Amino acid sequence: MIIRKNDQVVLLKTITGAEGVDRRAIGKEEKGSVARVLRVDRETGRVVVEGVNYVYRHVRRSQKHPQGGRVAKEAPIHLSNVALYCGKCGGAAKVRFKINEKKDAAGKRRREVLRLCRKCGEAVGGAR
Ligand SMILES: [Zn+2]
Repeated sequence: MIIRKNDQVVLLKTITGAEGVDRRAIGKEEKGSVARVLRVDRETGRVVVEGVNYVYRHVRRSQKHPQGGRVAKEAPIHLSNVALYCGKCGGAAKVRFKINEKKDAAGKRRREVLRLCRKCGEAVGGAR
């Protein structure tokens, strides 16, 4: 999967979430805005993006929420609504993968997977 946790992504669509939700991070849900990925679900192909798609969750009484009630929370959105953000191009990036074989201090071989922006060739996000 191209998108990973903590990546910066660009919204390709405006996603507003539930009506009437008190949004903590206003302005992140417009098409074209850039935000951080909090969670990736490989199975469903969905991502949770910081400040995007707030909905109400009804929670039971617990230590954290002694009263229970409604909590505004980001809900997952589909991967197709986001693209990796390239800081150099200042926009959505299509990426190609590059694998570097390296040897670490102990002489062990390590693979480093880089994602390079197809437009400018810059590495996007971190290596893994
Ligand atoms: Zn780029």
